[in-house]
Amino acid sequence: MSFLAETLAFNREFVQNRSYAEIPQSKYPKKKVLVVTCMDARLVELLPRAMNLHNGDAKFVKTAGALISHPFGGAMRSIMVGVYQLGVEEILVIGHHDCGMIGLRPELVLERAQTRGIPPERLDTLKGAGIDLEGWLTGFDRVEEAVAHSVEMIRQHPLIPRDLPVHGLVVDPTTGQLEVLIDGYNMSRSRGAP
Ligand SMILES: [Zn+2]
Repeated sequence: MSFLAETLAFNREFVQNRSYAEIPQSKYPKKKVLVVTCMDARLVELLPRAMNLHNGDAKFVKTAGALISHPFGGAMRSIMVGVYQLGVEEILVIGHHDCGMIGLRPELVLERAQTRGIPPERLDTLKGAGIDLEGWLTGFDRVEEAVAHSVEMIRQHPLIPRDLPVHGLVVDPTTGQLEVLIDGYNMSRSRGAP
């Protein structure tokens, strides 16, 4: 059975059995926080549980490496919607050790794309059109730098209020242990430490 067919079969039972009824529901995040983190599969269940976040508690924005690479891209737009439409009052950027974006080399990604049938001329066309494929597909050396970069991207954004706390953390993808790199309460103007 394909993954999709398997998922749909499970889903029919899930809905029929009203399994959803045991999961808390809330469109507006109850704890008024938004978490920017990595798409790493190890964090799917581990991170919310390690943070005591349940369904309906928080908004999650996931990108490879918890990186926000463009001030007017999709991740930043999600943050804007969280802050101005959904009651988010605090943001946590959480990178993790052993991230797939550490040491990501663009030439390797582009080589694999070609192995999968993307013609080299297409890459040349994109580069010719001024698209910096190498820069776009470059990872980072240290997760701490990536977290600091994303935190700054949010804090310095012209449409984000200066008093919104933006924290930077790193999580251990095995134990779920959190380490604070940047305490957003100290950086924001009008809110003190708890
Ligand atoms: Zn990662």
